[in-house]
Amino acid sequence: MRIDGARYRPWHLITLLLCLLPAGAAAAVDASADRQRIGAQMEVLPDPERRLDFAAMGREEVAGRFAPLASNVPSFGFANAAVWLRFDLHNETGQPLERLLVVECSWLDALTLWVETPDGRVSRQHFGDTLPYAERVYDHPLPVFRLTVPPGTSRVTLRAEARDPLLVPVDLWEPEAFARHDRWTSFYYGIFYGAIAIMAVYNFFLFLFLRDRPYLYYVLYLAAFLAMNLTYNGFTYALLWRESPEWVNWLHPITIYLFQITGVLFAIHFLGTRTRNPGLHRFLLALLVVLVAALLGSGLVGGYYAHVSLSIALVVTYTLTVVVAGLLSWCRGNRAARFFIIGSLSSLVGASITALVVAGVLPYHFATFRAVEFGMMLDVTLLAMALADRYNLMRQERDLVEARYRDSLAQTKQTLEREVAERTRELREAKERAENLARTDELTGINNRRAFYDCGMREVEVAQRHGHSISLLMLDLDHFKTINDDHGHAAGDALLVAVSDIIRQGVRGTDILGRIGGEEFAIVLPHTRLDAARELAEKLRRRIAEWKLPYDGVQLAVTASIGVAERRDGEHLDALISRADGALYTAKREGRNRVVCA
Ligand code: GH3
Ligand code: MG
Ligand code: MG
Repeated sequence: MRIDGARYRPWHLITLLLCLLPAGAAAAVDASADRQRIGAQMEVLPDPERRLDFAAMGREEVAGRFAPLASNVPSFGFANAAVWLRFDLHNETGQPLERLLVVECSWLDALTLWVETPDGRVSRQHFGDTLPYAERVYDHPLPVFRLTVPPGTSRVTLRAEARDPLLVPVDLWEPEAFARHDRWTSFYYGIFYGAIAIMAVYNFFLFLFLRDRPYLYYVLYLAAFLAMNLTYNGFTYALLWRESPEWVNWLHPITIYLFQITGVLFAIHFLGTRTRNPGLHRFLLALLVVLVAALLGSGLVGGYYAHVSLSIALVVTYTLTVVVAGLLSWCRGNRAARFFIIGSLSSLVGASITALVVAGVLPYHFATFRAVEFGMMLDVTLLAMALADRYNLMRQERDLVEARYRDSLAQTKQTLEREVAERTRELREAKERAENLARTDELTGINNRRAFYDCGMREVEVAQRHGHSISLLMLDLDHFKTINDDHGHAAGDALLVAVSDIIRQGVRGTDILGRIGGEEFAIVLPHTRLDAARELAEKLRRRIAEWKLPYDGVQLAVTASIGVAERRDGEHLDALISRADGALYTAKREGRNRVVCA
């Protein structure tokens, strides 16, 4: 039913029509039942200006305006008004009955109950979440009145007032039955809050160990939900701040804002919108700014009623946004968004159902009124799954990257090893070339003086060690200077090359041949006695002498003198060379082109 005509909303029409359905004359309530929902038996009179008082109820013109209530639960949405309800209570037992009248809505600001017994006496009880908790006749988060119903018919009048959604589900209970029912309710809340609290603690540990921000925002989201739910179910007031009704009232919009703020933060971090979806990210940030501004404005700008209406209205925007954000992220290829979407959807459906019940559009029922809690339970569970799923996906991605990295590392290592081997080989070859160059005579390609001495000394040592013979030839070209003088230096070079070839062809592979001076050659002959050495020297001398080199139109010829020496026991290379040199000198002196033995 719509009370305040100035703020009419389409859905109010539905409640209005429901309330105006012909309900027939309201029947009296039988007070003897254990539990009764009092709905259709009630008559209702809205009081948007809050001008009526109990005395006015007796007046004919006011009493006549009461209309029967069609639905089982009077619900008026965001009325910011007062409403009068009345019904008759019939006791046929002949005994006075003790009963509890319970209004299953914790946030109503003020409730006043008048009971007019058959003897004409009127008793009055007052209740409300704007009154100090100590004034409650029954210690319970919900408004609970104690009634003593005498035999006969009593008239009950109830005035309800709220700046929050005006919802007045009235039940009449036998006290023991209510206590039993209350134990089940406590059990339900115990499981509900326990599950959420454990989820929060567990995920906080996950955050500590994994250092992954979404876990932290999930914990904050759970904590905010817990605070919000505890507040609107009346537990915050009943358990924490019994002396501060105004503060607890303000906690309603504050915790609703906080719930949405943490929800948006979680969505941002879980979906990674900053990098994955910048457009969506900006939108979520804008929503966040609105929510934080509204939160900071609580108590400063706008009254309590404005903030309660705004915070609940924003819940619709918020849940829709989060679901759409999940869908967009999923479309962008974020696979971790799938459980997030289902979770957010379930809380969206749950919150919407409850919001519609509270707004008076949907009928009140335990399941519909608690839909937000069921939706949240599902959401909380699915979000935990979503976090696990996201972790799993991240690990898979990391494994993939690692595998790729390992492959490329192995490849790089292989390439590197190949290149190192290549460079090493090149270096070795260069070194060998350099060494060969340093040991080879540039003109003739045979050993130079240094290489000849190195190899010759080694051979002398071997001969010394094994006691075998070794001989040496010293060969010097005769009058070589004249060749240079007569035919030029190039002719001399060509002749030197040719002579070295003759000598090389004339000796064995094991013999060591070297050019140790300008036109002076030396040959070490291992395993060779003096006679054999002389024979070889003679053969070389003859070949050189017989040989002619055609050069520039003339025939160049040259002779060689050779000194021969066989190593004596214990003799070093130097001494051997020196003796062969002596023999060579003799050969020169005796006329050249001859072989002389030392
Ligand atoms: P002898 O019979 O006494 O040995 O007379 P010779 O002219 O051969 O002796 P000498 O030692 O006086 O001269 C050696 C000459 O060899 C001097 C130099 O011009 C020549 N000679 C030395 N090395 C080279 C060379 O690499 N190329 C050329 N073309 N000539 C060289
Ligand atoms: Mg010479
Ligand atoms: Mg000479």
